[in-house]
This record gives sequence, structure tokens and C-alpha cells, in this order.
Amino acid sequence: MFQNSIWLLGNGEDINFWNDNWCGTPLSDTFNIPDQIKQSLSSKVSDYIFNGQWNLPCQLTHQFSNLSFLVQQITIPNEPSNDKLLWKHTDTGELNLSDAYRFKLQQFQDLHWAKLIWNPDIPPSKSCLAWRLMHNKVPTDENLMLRGCALPSMCSLCNKNVESSFHIFFECNNSKQSSSNSIRDFIVLKHFKVSIHPPKIPLLKEVLWQPPLVNWIKCNIDGAAKGNPGIAACGGVFRNSDANFIFCFAEPLGFASSYQAELCAAMTAIEIAHTRNWHNLWLETDSTLVVLAFKNSNTKVAWNLRNRWHNAILAGSP
Ligand SMILES: [Zn+2]
Repeated sequence: MFQNSIWLLGNGEDINFWNDNWCGTPLSDTFNIPDQIKQSLSSKVSDYIFNGQWNLPCQLTHQFSNLSFLVQQITIPNEPSNDKLLWKHTDTGELNLSDAYRFKLQQFQDLHWAKLIWNPDIPPSKSCLAWRLMHNKVPTDENLMLRGCALPSMCSLCNKNVESSFHIFFECNNSKQSSSNSIRDFIVLKHFKVSIHPPKIPLLKEVLWQPPLVNWIKCNIDGAAKGNPGIAACGGVFRNSDANFIFCFAEPLGFASSYQAELCAAMTAIEIAHTRNWHNLWLETDSTLVVLAFKNSNTKVAWNLRNRWHNAILAGSP
């Protein structure tokens, strides 16, 4: 349980600086501190925060060269809050039964072909059929008979053999002779009464960029991940009311979800506007989730971004 949990920093009074997991791995493990010494380390994270800033003694930063870097990665919340222990495999940090089930399931099942089948390029109805085939759960006569249904069976493609998954997909000459792959697939799908949903024609919509009002700055932001989660990055362009370019940023984010990348774009834009005293900022994003997160202050953003998000909201509000 504790191996899969992480502390979200609040005031730091409940977190053991060395032995609790609050910056990715317990620091005592990162620096290979022997077990006998670990037990006597009782300092809290709050002992190393002063006036809302990290305050590490020089003796420590000299002895552990990487310590300062690791600690600086963690955002200290500007508003007073309590420390929270979170489940690190969910975005909300909360653990419910379905998350626990999914987590345990991952440890046992590694179906290397699952990704090939559940692919966005394959129609879901076909993915579903392939999935059932791999588990031998296609409702063929053979499977029905195995379940105790007494019935005479005949392949309706060749009218010769007993209908089984193996026969239909690999043996039956009639299914092989079909003129093309897609026609053959169509016949097989029809045979199993699988309905086919052709892809919808994309709807074209005109989108126009509008400049901000005088004394306002507009920032167009975007974030993307290659895979979800995957290698992610975000960026943004600031323009004034004459549509002139003022500033831009692009930031690699490592491994993140596309939602996290979109949030990071918004936070970076606000942070930049804040340090440059651009008080009238118009953020434009194509992410409805980010817009929702702004509209509803109760929205729980991913725990690893939560402190930074609240600080950005605080900086962005007048
Ligand atoms: Zn046949």
C-alpha cells in the first residue's frame, strides 16, 4: 500500500523528510542510508521550509549533491493546507475499488497482442470479434455445444463442416475464396451478426483567431502527448491587441497524459504573465477539460500538478 502511495505536500508537518515518499522515492532510499540510521531520522519536511521557500542546511546539500535538485522539483503550496497521502496511480490520488482491481490485474495479465487488437485504426466491432476469438469465446455452434446446447451443426459458408472458430477463420474454403479481405471480413461479421458502424464523415468547422482588446494580452496554448500517457510537451504564443508577437514558450514534460500537458501549458502561460506583470491575460485553449478546471475551482487536477495549479490560479486571480 505504502509503496504505491505518495504524499502531496501541504505544510509538511506530517511528512518524514527522509523516510516518507513525497518526492518520487523516499530520500533515505535514494541516498542508500542504512536501515539502522533510517529509524532514527525524525525530521519533518516542514523543518526545511522557511517563509514558503526551501531552506536546506549547507551540510546536507554538501553531503548529498543531488538533494537540492530533488527537493526543488516539489512545489510548496502558497495557501496553507494539510499534507495528504495519495494513491499515485490515479490522477485524483484517490483509491477506489475499481482502481485497486485494475492495479492488481496489471500484475497478472500481460497480453502482448491486446494492443494490436484494440487499435484506433480497427473498427471496434472487429476488435471485439478478434478479442472473443483469441479467448475462444465466439458464439459458434461448437462453443454452444460445449455449453450443453444440443444442436446439429453445419458451417453456413461451405455447408460441409461443423461450425467452429478454427474452421471459419482458418479452414473453410468458402471463407478463403471471398474476393477481397474486406468483403470476406464483412461476410464473417455478418455470419456472427456483428453490426458494422462505418466511420462518420468529419464535420468541417471554421475557426478564426481574434486579437485581444487594447491593454490585453492573448496567449494561445496547447499541450500534447505521444500516447496517453506518453512523451509530452506544451507551448504557447503571446500576442497583443495588434496581433503582434510578444513572447512564446515550449516546454518538454517527460512522461505525462495529454490532459496534464494541456494543464501545464495553462500554468506556464499564467506563470509567465504573472512574472511579467501582464495582468489582463486571455488564455485560449482547445481543451474543454482545462476550461472546466478553470470554471470549477473544485475540479481536482492530477495530484502531481495540484500544488502548482493552485499557485497558478492564485497568481492569475486579480
Ligand atoms: Zn465452412
